[in-house]
Amino acid sequence: MTATHVPGLPVIEDGQLISTNPATGEEAGRVPVADEKAVTAAVEQAREAAVWWQSRGWEGRKVRLLRWRTLLVERIEELAELARSESGKPINDGIVEVTAAVEHLDWAARNARRVLGPRRMRTRLLLAEHVGHLEYQPYGVVGVIGPWNYPIVTPIGPISGALAAGNAIVFKPSEYTPVVGQWLADSFAEIVPEQPVLRAVHGLGDVGGALCRSGVGKVSFTGSTATGKKVMAACAENLVPVVIEAGGKDALIVDADADVPAAAEAAVWGAMTNAGQTCIGIERVYAVEPVYDRFVQAVVEKAGKLRTGEEIGPITMPRQLEIIRDHIEDALARGGRAVLGGAEAVRAPYVAPTVLVDVPDDSSEIREETFGPTLTITRVRDAEEAIRKANDTPYGLGGSVFGKRDAVRIARRLRAGMVAVNGTLTFVGMGNLPFGGVGESGFGRIHGEDGLREFARPKAITVRRARSLLPAMTFERTPAQVRQIVKALRLLYGRRR
Ligand code: NAD
Repeated sequence: MTATHVPGLPVIEDGQLISTNPATGEEAGRVPVADEKAVTAAVEQAREAAVWWQSRGWEGRKVRLLRWRTLLVERIEELAELARSESGKPINDGIVEVTAAVEHLDWAARNARRVLGPRRMRTRLLLAEHVGHLEYQPYGVVGVIGPWNYPIVTPIGPISGALAAGNAIVFKPSEYTPVVGQWLADSFAEIVPEQPVLRAVHGLGDVGGALCRSGVGKVSFTGSTATGKKVMAACAENLVPVVIEAGGKDALIVDADADVPAAAEAAVWGAMTNAGQTCIGIERVYAVEPVYDRFVQAVVEKAGKLRTGEEIGPITMPRQLEIIRDHIEDALARGGRAVLGGAEAVRAPYVAPTVLVDVPDDSSEIREETFGPTLTITRVRDAEEAIRKANDTPYGLGGSVFGKRDAVRIARRLRAGMVAVNGTLTFVGMGNLPFGGVGESGFGRIHGEDGLREFARPKAITVRRARSLLPAMTFERTPAQVRQIVKALRLLYGRRR
């Protein structure tokens, strides 16, 4: 490492992108930087690879994807260690991340044919002599742009869906975690050596922009809301469709009949895992009056036991430390109280667990994504007030409810793409559930059936199977035939219920 390197900050030197460990400043690895020409060339090669990959068929792709899944399981420690060396993420967080990635890969591989394969559709009145066929065809090449906070599972979500659907991928990992990204592409190439079906291209944001403009059929973006808007603008130039998985400000509601110790345990994990650098991390809690005091006490007790450098890793992006400090200071300046941690908890590269109460609704700690191990707990009268406050955000990614009688009812009313009842973040671990947000958290879905359909175009085909008895869609129809059509229509649909 040269003297100019700031721990964690990626550097470009002699055409190489160098990533460093945010805790130690040690070099984690280096990869070549791509320019616009190299991105376009990678997409052109991937276009040919996509034709070959499609020709493997459902079964051929499934076999390879399941082999890749097994490779990830075999090398889980190696991959978790690599993620630690590049992002600072504790090994156990890395292991859990790979586990979730394996789940999505396995599910997509096993279910792609069922969800996307050709099927016959039921005949309808107007075209009784035709049979309908529906199938989902891949886009060709999908561009995947990834973040650094979960450098394994966030790209593997769209990558597994897109590969299972028959696409080739050009993947632009975050500049903070390019080595993990390259490892994913290299390990896939061990399983699929014949063609560059999954390629990585590296660099800063401009390389992501070049990928949007490179002729890919679709872009899957995971990252901040601000960058998501730039990605949409770049994709709009050629009407390239996008999936946007952006930031969040997820809330947890603790209702009166909640298991308070369980809620506190889940809140601490949901807020502090990966040092709070989690898109679906719990950043706000709304606890109803009767359980508020007990809940705050239990959270402080549990969060107070977490150690920086152990369960709480470093903040990966050095500039995020300032944002976290600003949010805490703003909350305290406006009348909030730190019942654990506080502004002094920010000691680069770590932030110690911080729990804030009495924080006003208009403070940045309540309104903006903090992305650190901080949690606000707000006392509310009842579940109605909790729902109103939880929904009072432009974001809408995930959320959580602890309670018994009304918990699912409350979950339904949260303006979010996913909600965990009596747990936090759990929905990300189920391969058969869709993942994605509303509002400023983005749109489109990865994971599950919707995540497979996201990477394929629905294709409708009608096939005539007999002569038309009641030809409607032709100039050859007779007045008598039109009367027959109206008669049939009245018979089938003309009666009021
Ligand atoms: P970021 O927006 O800074 O970067 C994400 C990716 O976009 C990187 O690869 C970056 O190089 C690339 N990029 C930057 N500018 C670009 C441009 N103009 N055109 C194309 N690509 C460009 O986000 P980040 O800091 O890496 O990640 C953290 C953010 O991601 C947080 O807001 C977090 O909530 C969000 N996130 C969301 C999800 C989700 O699934 N919804 C998952 C993980 C992280």
